[in-house]
Amino acid sequence: MSENDKELTEATESLKTLHIAKRQDYLQWDDYFMATAILSAKRSKDPVTQVGACIVDKHNRIVAIGYNGFPRDCSDDIFPWTKNADDALENKKLYVVHAEANAILNSNSTSLVGTRLYTTLFPCNECTKLIIQSGIRSIFYISDKYAEKSVYQASKRMLNSVGISYRQHVPVKKQIVIDFDDILNE
Ligand SMILES: [Zn+2]
Repeated sequence: MSENDKELTEATESLKTLHIAKRQDYLQWDDYFMATAILSAKRSKDPVTQVGACIVDKHNRIVAIGYNGFPRDCSDDIFPWTKNADDALENKKLYVVHAEANAILNSNSTSLVGTRLYTTLFPCNECTKLIIQSGIRSIFYISDKYAEKSVYQASKRMLNSVGISYRQHVPVKKQIVIDFDDILNE
């Protein structure tokens, strides 16, 4: 280490002790938006799959969030949460609005053109249609566990065709803990 580097390191260390140097362990944007999608998923009442989505504009402003659930005013206690009922009308897939669709439909922005979507699960073909039509330009996801299914292959076929990028999010921070007591004790 050169003399200059050494001085710089010492200076940074003393600033840290005085709490006036910039914090180094702050959340990166992509982790922050994906964490917002994950937090949103926690709102879902689906007993098997909780999915969350977060849409962000070019200024890094969150313009939409969503999670999977029944349409507004369709009661979580009346509509079915099962996917294997003998009675076709008692299967959740007939009723659930996916996280990405909910985010798009509940957006607080008049336009989603040029935005980025962060979602915990790779979008299905139906959500992909909405993503394309709304003008979203890129997708970040965590899990692609159904990649083998035709529904998801159809998604990729459409996304590749229109040039919407998608990539798996690799978190900088592997774990983000939210502890309400921490805030009280700060
Ligand atoms: Zn979907």
